[in-house]
Amino acid sequence: MNETIQFMDLKRQYVTIKEEISAALSAVCEKTAFSGGPFVEEFEKNFADYCHSSHCSAVNSGTSALQLALVAAGIKPGDEVIVPANTFIATAWAVSYVNATPVFVDCTSNTWNIDPQKIEGKITKKTKAIIGVHLYGQPFDVDAVKSIADTHGLSMIEDCAQAHGALYKDKKVGGFGLLGCFSFYPGKNLGAYGEGGAIVSNNGTNDQRIKSLRNHGSTIRYHHEELGFNMRMDGFQGAVLNVKLRYLDSWNKRRRTIAQMYRNGIKNDKIRMQSQPSWSSSVYHLFVATVDDRDHVMQYLQDRKIFCGLHYPIPCHLQRAYSHLGYKKGDLPNAEYLADHCVSLPMYPELTDAEVSYIIDTLNGIN
Ligand SMILES: *Cc1c(COP(=O)(O)O)cnc(C)c1O
Repeated sequence: MNETIQFMDLKRQYVTIKEEISAALSAVCEKTAFSGGPFVEEFEKNFADYCHSSHCSAVNSGTSALQLALVAAGIKPGDEVIVPANTFIATAWAVSYVNATPVFVDCTSNTWNIDPQKIEGKITKKTKAIIGVHLYGQPFDVDAVKSIADTHGLSMIEDCAQAHGALYKDKKVGGFGLLGCFSFYPGKNLGAYGEGGAIVSNNGTNDQRIKSLRNHGSTIRYHHEELGFNMRMDGFQGAVLNVKLRYLDSWNKRRRTIAQMYRNGIKNDKIRMQSQPSWSSSVYHLFVATVDDRDHVMQYLQDRKIFCGLHYPIPCHLQRAYSHLGYKKGDLPNAEYLADHCVSLPMYPELTDAEVSYIIDTLNGIN
């Protein structure tokens, strides 16, 4: 292989849809529909349909989506919200933004999703919600988490930032709990050309509240019902996402094919992969493996022009930003093991079969 294999390569996708994107961006300019507006509304309708949800509110990032979901769920200062320790930090930020406290729970040792058996021990009188994360594109055990939430009168919110189109028991993620939050950060399976996010739901009252909150707490111009935010999606992102949504299923299909190639082809017991429960159908936002000597593996691959990522090298509970919560090393061992041993292989629809085979052969050569 002469060419370097980047961990991510957004340019390869852009060149396949360049004309449609240019036309969509021009249309926004022609209509001067820059903030919210018809392109965003069209996307909201299309994305709600895609998720088999009745409502969708588009916002300016996945982090904002989570924050507004928590406001809509009635999370108040001093409340506690359960979140997995192994996730992108934004899941926890949202809890802190509403002045509630994130309570971190370990993942299972093999699926790397939140461990439902470890949730109940963390529930207190202050607990109000659980945010489950469909990590790397693989659904968490929704029924198990939902039944705990229902038993204790908690809201379940789904962080679907990595899982557009993933299936749990043959149903799309996003509609299982009170609210489902998505990110359209450029590198996500459905990525904007800038920042973006959305909240889907099957509850019109919550959706109306979120549409007001993102728009300065206003439904009638200059009348402000409550403290609001400027979190609208911009028109360019709505237009780009309308184009890209049409390709999402074919891109996810290609990710699944590449994942199958990795799973069948990697035959090196030094490299361990995520366990896949039978009820889950991942969309492989990331393809993460664990290895004993990560530095050696990454250097070996890099010397052969293959670049990997780390998701994530420090679990949330050990981040300095959360040191005041008093967690220490050893508290959540599975998440800590993952942080120390994970490595993310290149995973995007535009990888060629030859590149995937080269990555597999290279991995099989590590000893
Ligand atoms: C990307 C991501 C977010 C945040 O989304 P942004 O659009 O970057 O704000 C939240 N949670 C998870 C799990 C993510 O991967």
